[in-house]
Formats: sequence, structure tokens, C-alpha cells
Amino acid sequence: MVHADRKPVLLLVDDQPAIHRLLAVKLRNEELEFLTAFTGEEALELAKEQQPSLILLDLTMPGMSGFEVLKALKENTDTMEIPVIIVSGSTDSRHKVRAFELGAMDYVCKPFDVPELRARIQSAIKLHRLMKMLEQRAQIDGLTGLWNRAYFDKRLEIELNSRRRTNRPLALVICDLDHFKLLNDNYGHPAGDTVLQGFASLLNHELRSSDVACRYGGEEFALILPETTPDEAIRACDRIRLAIDAKSWKNYEGLSATASFGLAHSDDLPVETAEEWIEAADSALYEAKRGGRNQVHAYGHGLAAGGALEIDEPPTEQAA
Ligand code: GH3
Ligand code: MG
Ligand code: MG
Repeated sequence: MVHADRKPVLLLVDDQPAIHRLLAVKLRNEELEFLTAFTGEEALELAKEQQPSLILLDLTMPGMSGFEVLKALKENTDTMEIPVIIVSGSTDSRHKVRAFELGAMDYVCKPFDVPELRARIQSAIKLHRLMKMLEQRAQIDGLTGLWNRAYFDKRLEIELNSRRRTNRPLALVICDLDHFKLLNDNYGHPAGDTVLQGFASLLNHELRSSDVACRYGGEEFALILPETTPDEAIRACDRIRLAIDAKSWKNYEGLSATASFGLAHSDDLPVETAEEWIEAADSALYEAKRGGRNQVHAYGHGLAAGGALEIDEPPTEQAA
């Protein structure tokens, strides 16, 4: 996670204490927090634990060389995204090429010009922030601000893997707005967009922070509910169902929207692949649609909440 309010943390890796002292003085006015390591081993440990925003790495050190440290940083998923600037006494272009090949972001020669080093540090931090932001943005749906389909696919795999290890309960819900085409036709596409946004904000409001709400596509949403019992999942779906049904839409008089929900739960699902989970939730959703919409169906159980009450009403007397 990127902490916007935290000062960028710079990890300085160099075997020479003099370099540490020099940089501590020369960079003291920068908006930076410092971590220091004198060996490669120390650097790897600190990088993993502290997740610095940037690493300044010396090449020539006793024990692990800078190249070895760089390689290890880039091979470990916990540290591979941390940008590294090599600071080296070597001006040999083969060393520079090797550093870039191993994944360094920049290469600065010692003795370095302090204003230039400052500029390179700030530029590396800025670039890294931007990359992080773009990466996150690529996983967010533009209209609703929910996670998008690409993120959903990735996250479902993660949750299923974690379930394989821990056997903790897991629920997957696919929900779909009812007769949405009709709603667009009657009130216009902007009204449809407003309803999609309103539904998304209901999801954010009704779900727990550990739940994952995604826009699966069009007017379909997928909810991953970790550590959730079947009863809790049904209750959550029904809260959302009632909330969207009850919601009034300002600027669109007479508009009402409902949604149908299909739930798949680990209690009822021996299967383990993402495709099978989605198929199960989808088939429950299909039942909810077929049962009359505005209802919650659970895979393997049928109607779980909502739906028309089955009351045999006597035919109304027509006034003669
Ligand atoms: P059902 O109750 O069976 O789900 O019927 P439906 O009309 O909701 O389903 P259908 O799949 O026939 O139509 C979905 C509609 O959703 C058609 C499409 O134009 C609309 N839609 C998809 N994405 C968006 C969007 O981003 N904005 C708006 N306004 N409409 C969208
Ligand atoms: Mg629909
Ligand atoms: Mg649809």
C-alpha cells in the first residue's frame, strides 16, 4: 500500500560510514526518512520489513556485492517493486549496463554531485508513485469506483488459494440489476449510470471492509465475502436487496430499481476452481431471475430471501 501521508523512506546501503554521514547531512532538508544498512544482508532484511520508497545501493561492498543485492531484491516479490539507484565509484559502462539489466532505475557515479543526486532521488520517488497509482487505477472501474473485473479475477484466485490452505469459509455473490435495459429505455442512459453508482455506494455501505465489491461488467456485480457464513452472506445480500429496492432517485421521479442475487458458499461447494465458483453463483443468479427477480438464491438451496409471498388471494370482487 502507498501511504500518501508518510514521508518517503530512503534506504541507504553502503559499507562506508563516511558516505552515510555525508548523505545524512547533504539530504537533511529533503522530505525523507532514512534507513541505513552497511551490508547486503542487512539491506535485504530491512527492504523486506520496512518497504522503503527508494534504495540507494553501493556496488562494491565486502560480502554480498551490490549486484548480488540488486538481483536478490528484484527476485523477491516483496521487494521487486522498490526502485533502486546504484551509487558507485565505477564509471565502467559495462557495470552501468549490468545494473540496468538487473532492474536498477538509475546509476549515479561517486563522487556524486549532491544537487544532481537530490534531483535523481526525487525523480525516482515521483516515478515510482506514479507507477503505483496507475497500477491501482487500472484495477478500478471508472463509473462506480469499485474494483473492476481484472481485479476480481485476481482476487478470487487469491481467496481460493487462501481457502485451500486454511479451509476458512468463503462466499461469492453475483448480483445483477433487474430489467436494466428497460430502465435505460424509460429514463435514459444517464439515469442508468446514476443507478449503477447508487448501487455501488450501497455495496460500500452495507458490506464489511474485508469484503470485496467488484463491477463484474455492465449491470452485474461480484462480491467476494471472506470468512462469512451462509447465513451472514444471505443477510448481507438481503440488506442490499432491500436497500436498493427502497432507494428513491432524486431527479428521476417514479424510478425504482431492484437487483437479483446468486450466492455460492464454500459449505455447498466442494469444487475449487474459480470457474466453478462463478458458474455456481451464476446459476443461483439465474434461478433468482427466473423466480421473479428482486430475490436472493443460494446455490444448492434455491430461494433464500425475497421473492413474492405465495398467498392464495381470493379473486377480487368486481363491483357490479
Ligand atoms: P435482467 O433483469 O434479466 O437482468 O434484464 P436486464 O434488462 O437487466 O438485462 P440485459 O442484459 O438484457 O440488459 C442489460 C442492460 O444494461 C443493457 C445495457 O445497455 C445496460 N448497461 C450495461 N452497462 C451499462 C452502463 O455502464 N450504463 C448504463 N446506463 N447501462 C448499462
Ligand atoms: Mg440485468
Ligand atoms: Mg445482464
